Amino acid sequence: MKTYTGSCHCGAVAYTVEGEFTEGMRCNCSHCRRKGFLLAFAPDSAFTLLRGADAQTTYHFNKHHIDHTFCKTCGVQSYGHGQDGKGNYMTMINLNCLEDFDFSSVKVTEFDGASL
Ligand SMILES: [Zn+2]
Repeated sequence: MKTYTGSCHCGAVAYTVEGEFTEGMRCNCSHCRRKGFLLAFAPDSAFTLLRGADAQTTYHFNKHHIDHTFCKTCGVQSYGHGQDGKGNYMTMINLNCLEDFDFSSVKVTEFDGASL
């Protein structure tokens, strides 16, 4: 397991996450394609918010299953929290916001969220 550091653009929000992220998911839903996410998932236990709890605000849409948390200053959404289809809580990591992440080793998969 590696430990990565992630942050928003201005640095107000930062976190660490443990994992081996060999796949990144691109979703074509109305929300993800606007934000340009490359997503991976981790259990909540692998995620630690270092700073920025008060620097964020949260956006909800559709079924409100996911907390789309983003920085109030720079607008970057570096992660989110929610439940998968089985009700398990997980953290959604925006791989684009990790430091020292090797994108050349990631297999990009497409997810047809627009059809859900
Ligand atoms: Zn920020």
